[in-house]
Amino acid sequence: MHTIYLYDEQPCSCGAYFSEGRPPSHPGMAAVQRELFHIGSGMSPDEWAARYSHQVGAWSGANHSYADEDPEVESWVAELLAILGEPGFHRLRRARTDYLTPEERAEIEREIGEMIESSTGL
Ligand SMILES: [Zn+2]
Repeated sequence: MHTIYLYDEQPCSCGAYFSEGRPPSHPGMAAVQRELFHIGSGMSPDEWAARYSHQVGAWSGANHSYADEDPEVESWVAELLAILGEPGFHRLRRARTDYLTPEERAEIEREIGEMIESSTGL
């Protein structure tokens, strides 16, 4: 499975890195995450991860906490971080089985293969 480069790949514009403990978000950041992940539309973090997490290169939004600005966004983001940060990606694999058709899974495997080829220059 493709390695998800998430943590500490990209600092926030304020310079905060994920490993610095996710300080409170800047005003407006929660709304950006809400739009980015369609939070509130009914798609769970598990389904989002199943469908789109292989396209995540770097996500500076992970570097802040949304608990003060928008608790719903924070709980959604925290779940996504738990999924993407799990060693072995067991929950992500299960979500791909639960939410995707065999054809959708094959397409994701193909996209991941292309990314690996381009990143290694093959
Ligand atoms: Zn910041």
